[in-house]
Amino acid sequence: MPKAQETVLEIDLKALKHNFEYLKSKLQPSTKFLAVVKAFAYGSDAIEIASYLQNLSVDYFAVAYTNEGIALREAGITKPILVLHPQTVNFKALIANCLEPSIYNSKILNEFVTIASAEKQSDYPIHVKFNTGLNRLGFSENEVDSIISKLKVSNAVKVKSIFSHLAASEDLDEKAFTLNQIETFKNITENFTRQVGYKPILHMSNTSSVLNYPEAHFDMVRCGIGLYGFGNSDKENKHLKPIATLKTIISQIHTIEQGDSVGYNRAFKSDALLRTATLPVGHADGIGRQYGNGKGFVTINGAKAQIIGNVCMDMIMVDITNIDCKEGDEVIVFGKNHTANTFSATANTISYEIITAISQRVKRLILN
Ligand SMILES: *Cc1c(COP(=O)(O)O)cnc(C)c1O
Repeated sequence: MPKAQETVLEIDLKALKHNFEYLKSKLQPSTKFLAVVKAFAYGSDAIEIASYLQNLSVDYFAVAYTNEGIALREAGITKPILVLHPQTVNFKALIANCLEPSIYNSKILNEFVTIASAEKQSDYPIHVKFNTGLNRLGFSENEVDSIISKLKVSNAVKVKSIFSHLAASEDLDEKAFTLNQIETFKNITENFTRQVGYKPILHMSNTSSVLNYPEAHFDMVRCGIGLYGFGNSDKENKHLKPIATLKTIISQIHTIEQGDSVGYNRAFKSDALLRTATLPVGHADGIGRQYGNGKGFVTINGAKAQIIGNVCMDMIMVDITNIDCKEGDEVIVFGKNHTANTFSATANTISYEIITAISQRVKRLILN
C-alpha cells in the first residue's frame, strides 16, 4: 500500500471481490445478484466498481437517478441498469441509454408508457415497485388491477421485474414487521403474475436481508453496503472488508501553550501544553462539522488522534500530544481497522452517510 502524500480515498478491489463472494455464498446458486452502485458506488467510484463487478458474475446494476446510469453507459457498462428513482423529465434520455426504470406510481406509469410509445418501443423493460411498509416509493397492493389494465392496452412496455424494499431488515427486533412485508410481497406478486400471464423477476432484499432473511431472496437480491464492506451488525462486519480507506497527511504541527486556542471561533481552548497536527481534509471533503470538538478521531501510526476545535472547510486539527509523528506522516481518517462505521458512530451517524459524503474533490486511488 503506497504512503499517502495528499488526501486520497483508496479503493481496494480485492476487498470488493471478497465481499461479493461472501454475499454470493449466502444465496442459492440460481439467485441473481444486482449490485447497487448509486451515489458513485457509495462514495467510491461507480465506473471502476461497475467495470470490475461486470467481469465477476453480477447480473444487474442499480443507480438512483438517470444521470448516474448514463455515466455508466458512457463508460462502457453493458449489463442491465435499473434506475431506482427516475423522474419523468429524463425518460427520453433513459430510453436512449437503455436504462430500465422503476415504476412506482400510476403517474409515472402513464407518462413512461406515453414516451415509450412515442419512441416506438415495444416490450421496453420496466420494474414495478410496490410499497409493503417502508412508505417511501411504490404502488399499493390494491393497485395491481389498475396496473394490469394499463399494461394490457399497450405493448410499449413489459414488466421485467416486480420488487419491494424492506424497512428494517437489519433490525431483528422488527422481525414480525419484516415477515409481514415479505408476506404482503408474496401476495402481490402471485396476484400480479397470474394476471399478467408471464413471470417477472421478483426481488426485495438489500444487504441486511441477504444476511438475515433467506426467505426474502426470491429471484434476485440488491446489494449495496455489503459490497462496500459493511453488514449493519458487528457479527456481519467481521466477515466483510471495507473497500475504502480515507488517508491524508500531516501538513503542519503546532505547539499549543496553556490558554491558547485552536481554530475558528476559538472553539478549543487549551488548559495544558499540547501538540496539534493540521490535516488537509475538511467539511468540503465530507468530514462534517459534527465530527469536530472532540467527537471524531483519526489514527496516526496506529494511535488515536481526536479532532479538536471546529472542522474547517479544508482542514481539521487533531491532538497529537501523545503520538510520535512528524510533518508529512500518513493519517488514516477511516479504513480497515478504524472503520467508517466506528468513525461515523462518533457523530451518531452510520457508515452509509460518511462513505457517500466523501466529495469528488478527494482523489480516488484504485488498488487492484
Ligand atoms: C440503496 C438501495 C438498496 C441497497 O441497500 P443496501 O442496504 O445498501 O444493501 C437496495 N434497494 C433499494 C431500493 C435501494 O434504494
